[in-house]
Amino acid sequence: MNLEIVKRSARASQLLVRMTIALLLAGACAGAQASDNFGAWFESFKKDATDAELYRFLYQMPKGGDLHNHISGSGYVEWWYELALAQEARGYEYYTKVRINNCEPYARNEFGPAPYLMLFRNVLAANYEKLSACEKTEYKPLKDLNEDEKTAWLNSIRLDKAHEGRDEFFQTHWQRLNDIYSNPYILAELIYLNMREFGEEGLIYFEPQVGTGGFLKPDGSGFSSEEVAQIYRNRLAQADVAKTGVTVRFQRSILRFLPSAEQDLERMYRFVHENNDLWVAVNMVGREDNDKGYPLRFLSTLRELRKEYSGVKLSIHAGEVDEPNQHVRDTLLLGADRIGHGINLISDPDTMLLMRHGPYLIEINLISNLLLEYVSDYQQHPFPEYLRTGIPVALSTDDRGMWDSTMTDEFFVAVTEFDLSWEELQLLHTNSLSYAFVDDELKRTLLASHKKRTERFMKSVSKSGPVAADEVPSPRGFICQRYELCTLQ
Ligand SMILES: [Zn+2]
Repeated sequence: MNLEIVKRSARASQLLVRMTIALLLAGACAGAQASDNFGAWFESFKKDATDAELYRFLYQMPKGGDLHNHISGSGYVEWWYELALAQEARGYEYYTKVRINNCEPYARNEFGPAPYLMLFRNVLAANYEKLSACEKTEYKPLKDLNEDEKTAWLNSIRLDKAHEGRDEFFQTHWQRLNDIYSNPYILAELIYLNMREFGEEGLIYFEPQVGTGGFLKPDGSGFSSEEVAQIYRNRLAQADVAKTGVTVRFQRSILRFLPSAEQDLERMYRFVHENNDLWVAVNMVGREDNDKGYPLRFLSTLRELRKEYSGVKLSIHAGEVDEPNQHVRDTLLLGADRIGHGINLISDPDTMLLMRHGPYLIEINLISNLLLEYVSDYQQHPFPEYLRTGIPVALSTDDRGMWDSTMTDEFFVAVTEFDLSWEELQLLHTNSLSYAFVDDELKRTLLASHKKRTERFMKSVSKSGPVAADEVPSPRGFICQRYELCTLQ
């Protein structure tokens, strides 16, 4: 190549670079302008829209991720029922307690893991066989429930009545599910079903807390942790999972108030380090009003673990409690990058100041906080204060199966109660991706995909309005009961 050609070619490529930058800038400005215009459109839409129209809009709206989700609390009651029966093909048969026959009146205990008077406790056939002859008369095969029993069974694992709250949730739901949630094939299906439903309501990322310990084979013997992890991996490799369009990463969690919590934390940390193709973080869960699980209990254990392992992220429940305390600050000191709930952060001004425009995100769970009585109405919830003072927040679903709600519902509550702007909605979506525990490249891909889908959505909805009612599933129990929105016509 002679010099002249080289110069010409250099000039041409400079011109190309300048043109590309100009085009990109024009595109970005047009994008920002489109978003501003859409913000104005959204304000006028909110003024005139019925609740049903707003709901349809929010269902269709592209969303980011769900960063706070316990897979064992994510299943709708009808899913649990159908999945449990379908497991017969694998040799699992379940029995459930449908009556009290006053068996062994002097030996029973209401304060153990299986309170005698608690109906609808589910046991595997192998464990049913271990019951006394009298107790066996209290149980019935799950598949043989009559209509009344089935309705009561379904209602026994969701918070559907005004008087049901924190105690019902923590003290009976998992105790009732019992052997059913100890089936790894059922949990693998729950992961898929959540991905499918989230994909349909516009999410592209899902980071549930998924365990591998305590699972049972049909004969009542246990699986190894590796076997369970493999069952999940096999399920995720199936074609229907890819079709959901949702990327998934898992967390492991420990019950923080148990005597063995430090050892559990060590095991989970190691597990995540060794299975980092899928698991990315460790979480700590369990009632914070049980003081045995206070955050600083784990400081020395985590400092030891950090000497040995890299790459394990921490997202930890904190501030999900009624009393003012500094649990959020202490949890940041543990090394957490994300805080689950953070309700009582509002009572700790120093930590609030630290978190404004900071690197730590609070995973907000509006429906959970109301149903578990951490706020008695939404005017008490600190979410708008965090959002509007620059503390990074994202909306998530926690144990949505037991609330009978969806991610769309979380947005419906947020917009209805706090009149969110389009810009604020976008911030919640992008936060739920920017703070995901994924590598930078995947994060960029997810954010770019969200941007593209949002541009398409803005164009379509400002031209033709939200989708028709028959394209959106009817609201589930929570929205139907609390907002009297049961159909979308
Ligand atoms: Zn939670």
